[in-house]
Amino acid sequence: VSIPLGGDDTPRSEGGPDPFDTQGLEISDSREAVVGGNRVRRALPQRSRRTIGAWCFADHMGPTAPDGTNPLGVGPHPHMGLHTVTWLLSGELIHRDSLGSEQPIRAGQLNLMTAGNGVSHAEEPSAGQRGSLHGIQLWVALPEATRHGPAAFEHHGELPEIELDNAVATVLVGALSGTASPARADTPLVGVDLQLRPGATTVGLEADFEYGLVVLEGALEMGGRRLTPGHLGVLGWGREELGVEVAEGTRALLLGGVPFDSPLVMWWNFVGRSRSEMVEATDQWNAGAERFGDPGSSMARIVAPRPPWKEVPN
Ligand code: MN
Repeated sequence: VSIPLGGDDTPRSEGGPDPFDTQGLEISDSREAVVGGNRVRRALPQRSRRTIGAWCFADHMGPTAPDGTNPLGVGPHPHMGLHTVTWLLSGELIHRDSLGSEQPIRAGQLNLMTAGNGVSHAEEPSAGQRGSLHGIQLWVALPEATRHGPAAFEHHGELPEIELDNAVATVLVGALSGTASPARADTPLVGVDLQLRPGATTVGLEADFEYGLVVLEGALEMGGRRLTPGHLGVLGWGREELGVEVAEGTRALLLGGVPFDSPLVMWWNFVGRSRSEMVEATDQWNAGAERFGDPGSSMARIVAPRPPWKEVPN
């Protein structure tokens, strides 16, 4: 589910990694946003932390009302320069895109759409939806080699699971301790869902990755700090393992990757390298250009807001 990015996401020109204690856990607040009448907690991007590896956007959605009212849905809108990665803990959505894909997604399944140079999709409420919808949508910035390439869509009905001390880890993208997800990844990165039981769990890490944690349900403790939903926890790179403890059943997402090597520009649903790319994509989508196609949804098409930049320095 993608949401218009506001002015706060306009990148600052500084860039480069932010200093933080590589032995600790840097905790910041997610921002509240509203999508299709439902509250989301946007953990990424933040002014002080724009990416974790190539992960550049994270919206924790729901849980919505348990009676299934007020379903979450987003009408046709475009993307470029990114993968969308959708993972649900409960509920159901219908993904419909300009490649002709029509795919229900349920809890425990992964949708991964590659925008490349351009794609459009809608995420529709499903008639099969029962109870609340709860999940996360992530974006992965594409490297130079694939960001101008063709669009693609993958659905993974089953993903590999690993038993850890007091957890089941589901590998969404990348690999954990030698167990790899079948999902596409264009840069070295990892995304793991952790279902934690009370007690301590150690997760193996890659020393050349930086990592972040988003708690979806419950609470976890790490080195005396407590991480709960509505926050982003950032771990320094150079770690061989992550030790966490939970007192109650907890769901958390571990995101990691090699620090992304290009400064990103993000506007609305677009990821690129320059403001002129954002202006061009905005104008082309609003003009109905072929570049982004048509997902054929009955929902209303979303108009792109014009970027605020008066001049386009490129
Ligand atoms: Mn989207």
